[in-house]
Amino acid sequence: MTTEETKKPADQEATANAEGPGETHTFQAEVSRLLDIVANALYSEKEIFIRELVSNAADACDRLRYAAITQPDLVEGDADYAIALSTDKDARTLTFSDNGIGMSREELIGNLGTIARSGSSAFVEQLSGDAKNDVSLIGQFGVGFYSCFMVAEKVEVVSRRAGEDLAWQWTSDGKGAFTVTEAERDGRGTTITVHLKEDEADYAETFRVQTVVKTYSDHIAFPITVNDGSEEGDPEPVNTASALWTRPRNDITEQQYTEFFHHVSHMVGDPWSTLHFRAEGMIEYTGLLYIPSSRPFDLYNQDRTSKVRLYVKRVFITEDCEELVPRWLRFLRGVIDSEDLPLNISREMLQNNAVLSRIRSGLTSRVIRELESKAEKEPDAYAEFWENFGAVLKEGLYEPTGEKEELLGLARFRSTHDDNLVSLTDYVGRMKEGQKAIYYITGGDVDALARSPQLEGFRSRGIEVLLLSDPVDEFWVPMVGMFEEQPFKSATQGGADFDEIKSEDAEADAEEKKADDTPQEDIDRLIAAMKLALGEDVKDIRVSDRLTESAVCLVADEGDMDMNLERLLKAHQQIETRAARILEINPGHTLIKGLAAKAKADSGSTDDAARLLLDQARILEGEPLPDPAAFAQRMSEIMAKGIG
Ligand code: ADP
Ligand code: MG
Repeated sequence: MTTEETKKPADQEATANAEGPGETHTFQAEVSRLLDIVANALYSEKEIFIRELVSNAADACDRLRYAAITQPDLVEGDADYAIALSTDKDARTLTFSDNGIGMSREELIGNLGTIARSGSSAFVEQLSGDAKNDVSLIGQFGVGFYSCFMVAEKVEVVSRRAGEDLAWQWTSDGKGAFTVTEAERDGRGTTITVHLKEDEADYAETFRVQTVVKTYSDHIAFPITVNDGSEEGDPEPVNTASALWTRPRNDITEQQYTEFFHHVSHMVGDPWSTLHFRAEGMIEYTGLLYIPSSRPFDLYNQDRTSKVRLYVKRVFITEDCEELVPRWLRFLRGVIDSEDLPLNISREMLQNNAVLSRIRSGLTSRVIRELESKAEKEPDAYAEFWENFGAVLKEGLYEPTGEKEELLGLARFRSTHDDNLVSLTDYVGRMKEGQKAIYYITGGDVDALARSPQLEGFRSRGIEVLLLSDPVDEFWVPMVGMFEEQPFKSATQGGADFDEIKSEDAEADAEEKKADDTPQEDIDRLIAAMKLALGEDVKDIRVSDRLTESAVCLVADEGDMDMNLERLLKAHQQIETRAARILEINPGHTLIKGLAAKAKADSGSTDDAARLLLDQARILEGEPLPDPAAFAQRMSEIMAKGIG
């Protein structure tokens, strides 16, 4: 978030009822909705409104400091940023004052009357009315300012934008409307006066407010003072007022790390992992990075960039620098502070910047090492991470980065082996003698995949199959191709080729087969009849190695596209038509045996049966039937015969 970009778009502006001074504006509908919920919140941690307003004040100082790099006159005569809170018991007010960038009249109206950030209006739409949950999420969605209406009966914001002469006052009781009038303010910045509700008078107590600031805002890099005007001289800052990441690790408590995580991520709860490090050598930088323990709400947003904040020598530069963190680590939150980038760096300069790309590869390998160590030492915790972010990490497998080996090592999968997540190394270690591929099946749902008929033969031979249910699996598997010299092979494609794989009880299998074998020529005759019936609708019909229980299944031909990928692409209108499938039949199945006998005796047509079998295979694949009416018709006839 750099200076100019936090302005909300003009078309989202709240509407003005009257022109001229003292005009009244109504809040955008979403804001009114939000305010309703906030005002009635039975939330026990109402004190978080202090954190939100302090955090806004700090953001305003950060933004001015950045703007002043190119426009030093903006801070002339007052370059010491500070945040001052003052309490007044008699007036029952708590006031927040900062000398940050301030807001113009338009910004006051846009920023404090509408919600324009992508995702945030969606958040408001989803508000459940469960005030406790909703309020705790407020900061995450960029609507933190409104949290002050949990405790306020009226709020006044007086702001003067740096470089401008006029100040403006925004006033509201949070009930549908606000007014904007011209105002006075010494110097730039923003003063927010919170008129407390009668039963929230606590927040007009200096000591109470100090405690809250210490708890939530100690890491803020600007001095924060809290006073009631009774002290002589300048009050002492309540916070340490140095950026948290610049302090030695030993001086930082767990709680401070966590609070800072909440601040930079706007998320709640504890981080899954915290990495605080200093890189020295050719390029020097400090990193304080967090891996969250839940998914940020914007993980799958269109832009898919990380939100790690870039600082240069403690000056905040931007929080959406695409080059800083690979997309497949976009769940990372935190700060990178570089000594080696120029302070006046522009967005354009950030692209293809050599320093930045070294920082990126440095932090990438740190995160990978952290993940490797967790995967090894705390597999259960790692599994939680994987559930949240595995699908994102796998995107790295098809990007042209150098970390494929590491990522393949970190990847975990569901498989037919057991209910635990397995690694590729586990898989390869368990491969059967003679097995020449890593088998996988892709689809939308692990449980449904596990029940696929195509896996029956694998299961009976004790061959493990990976169950891949993330859409990205369709893309990385063909790109990667191999792991430890073993090729990946779809279990629903090409011939199953079990000949060289030694099954546990291969002899028993063979015996059994012999015992109920239908002669090959009968099967051939049946296949010929079915081919005639199905024509172009199938590419081929053949005897299956895959099936042990089901009568039929569909598979893709060797060179064709994987069936699930084809379905995905079709669903997204990426392809027009599908390739015809191969229908595999199970000669050991009673139904197939019966049909073979019927074909041999030439006692009536097998056309309907062939059609029904193909439709059945399609249903098992989760594919729509091309002619459901015909299917129902045939099915009814056969049932009628059965009953009659
Ligand atoms: P967020 O901080 O996530 O953007 P908020 O609801 O907390 O969301 O604040 C809304 C916007 O109001 C901020 O983005 C900022 O532009 C503006 N704002 C709030 N407080 C201040 C302040 N003290 N100084 C300048 N601008 C502010
Ligand atoms: Mg905020």
